[in-house]
Amino acid sequence: MKYLLLLALLYFLYRLWRWFKGPEEGELVKDPNCGVYVPKDKALRVDVGGRTLYFCSRRCLEAYRRRERPP
Ligand SMILES: [Zn+2]
Repeated sequence: MKYLLLLALLYFLYRLWRWFKGPEEGELVKDPNCGVYVPKDKALRVDVGGRTLYFCSRRCLEAYRRRERPP
């Protein structure tokens, strides 16, 4: 029982450490407008219709929005 508690504590500390560390370094996301891969922490994050999209720049985001706009 004591081991279980220790394990839970270690897991909690691990989660806390991961949370402090922030997003994984080098994690890449694809810009759906120009197809370029951008580091997640530097990408422009936008929620479009329940989906999360990442763009390399505001220009790409606006171009994508113009293209995706329903007629
Ligand atoms: Zn782009």
